[in-house]
Amino acid sequence: MTIVAPHQKAKGLTPGKPRPAKALCSECGLCDTHYIHYVKEACAFLNEQIAELEAQAHGRSRDLEKEDDLYFGVHQEMIAARKKEPIEGAQWTGIVSAIACEMLKQGKVEGVVCVQNRPDDRFQPMPIIARTPEEVLAARVNKPTLSPNLSILEEVEQSGFKRLLAIGVGCQIQALRAVQDKIGLEKLYVLGTPCVDNVTREGLQKFLETTSKSPETVVHYEFMQDFRVHFKHEDGSIEKVPFFGLNTKELKDVFAPSCMSCFDYVNSLADLVVGYMGAPFKYQWLVVRNDIGKEMLDLVRDQLETQAVTSQGDRKNAVQQSIPAYDKGVTLPMWAAKLMGVVIEKIGPKGLEYARFSIDSHFTRNYLYVKRNYPEKLDDHVPEFAKKIVEQYELPEE
Ligand code: FAD
Ligand code: SF4
Repeated sequence: MTIVAPHQKAKGLTPGKPRPAKALCSECGLCDTHYIHYVKEACAFLNEQIAELEAQAHGRSRDLEKEDDLYFGVHQEMIAARKKEPIEGAQWTGIVSAIACEMLKQGKVEGVVCVQNRPDDRFQPMPIIARTPEEVLAARVNKPTLSPNLSILEEVEQSGFKRLLAIGVGCQIQALRAVQDKIGLEKLYVLGTPCVDNVTREGLQKFLETTSKSPETVVHYEFMQDFRVHFKHEDGSIEKVPFFGLNTKELKDVFAPSCMSCFDYVNSLADLVVGYMGAPFKYQWLVVRNDIGKEMLDLVRDQLETQAVTSQGDRKNAVQQSIPAYDKGVTLPMWAAKLMGVVIEKIGPKGLEYARFSIDSHFTRNYLYVKRNYPEKLDDHVPEFAKKIVEQYELPEE
C-alpha cells in the first residue's frame, strides 16, 4: 500500500490566485505545489524563522556580538574569487554555474534546481531541474525578476532523485529549508546568491525604461561597487548610470513589496553564497557557511583565482544621509550625480565595508517600509540581527 504524506492531498494554487502572503508574496513557487500545505510555517513572509533554520542548517545561529556574523551570517570562510576562464554570458564570472556543472559531472547530485528564461523573453524566469551541464549553462545569468523556483518541488518528488542541488535566493531558500525533510531527499546542497530590490516583470520594464537609454537591448544589469548601475547591451557595450541619478520618485513603487520587506539580503540559509558586493571590482564574493558549502567550493577551487577579503572606509555617514534622501525621493541632476559617484568611488567604502553600506541602506529603508505599511508585523517579521543593524541609525520621525 502506498503511503500518502499529508501534503500530497493538498493542491497548489493556480496562477493569478491570491497567495497566502497576499501583497508580500515573492512568488517563490511553494504555493504552486502541494507543499502549500506547509505555507504557514514555511513562508518567509508569514513566519520569519531565520535563526531557527540557521541552527538546523549550519549547527548554530549567527552570533550577534560578532560583526561579521551579524552582517554576513554564519560562516567558516569568506574569500574574493573569480574564474580564471570566465563563463561567457554569465552574470559575473560564472562561479555558480561552474559549481553546478561539477556537481553533476562528479555525480554528487542527480539534478540541479535552477532558472532558465522563457524562449520568447530573456527576463521571464522558467525554473527547471537541470540534469546535464548544458542545461545548467543555459540557466546562467540573473533573471532580475521574481522567480517561482520552488514550483518544481512536485517534479523533484516525482523524479525520485535522492541527491539534489538547489540554486536560489533568500526567500526561496527559507521556504525550501522549512520543507526539505518532506521531499524524500537523502542529500540536499544549497547554493545561494544574495538578492535585493527584485521586481515583477512589469516592474522591470518600468525600471529599464526610466533608467536605460536603450531598454530593449539590455541583456543584463547590476548595481555595482562603483556606485553605478551597469547595463550590458546586446552589442557588448556597457552603459553606466550613477545610483544618485536614479529617478527615485518614479522608482519608489517599482521594487516588489516582498523585497521592500526582506531582511535576508545575504541568503543566510544557503550552504554557500556567491555574490559580489564584499569583493573588489571584477571579483566575486564567496561566503562558505558550513562543510557542505566547503565541499561545493572545493570542486572548483583549481578553476579560481582567489584573494583575501578586505575592508576600507567608513559607511556610516553615507548611509545616514541616504535615509532621508530616499525617503523624500530626491533625484540629483545627472551632472551632480556623476560627480558624487566619482567622489564616493574614490573615498567611499570598499570591500566588506561596501557590503555593509548596501546592507545598512536596504535594511533601514525596508524597516521604514514595514513600519509604515505593516506595523502589526514589524516586531515578529524583522529578525533580531536586522533590528540591531537598523538601531545604529536615526530614522525619520513619523
Ligand atoms: P551565473 O553562473 O550566471 O549563474 C546565475 C544563477 O542564478 C543561475 O544558476 C540561475 O539559476 C540563478 N538565478 C538567476 N535568476 C534568478 C532568480 N531570479 N531567482 C533565483 N535564482 C536565479 N549579489 C550581491 O553581491 N549583491 C546584490 O545586491 C545582488 N543582488 C542580486 C539580485 C538578484 C535578483 C539576483 C538574482 C542576484 C543578485 N546578486 C547580488 C547575485 C549576483 O548578481 C550573481 O548572481 C552572483 O554573483 C552569481 O554570479 P555568477 O556569474 O556566478 O552566476
Ligand atoms: Fe507562498 Fe512563497 Fe508566496 Fe509565501 S512567498 S505566499 S510561500 S508563493
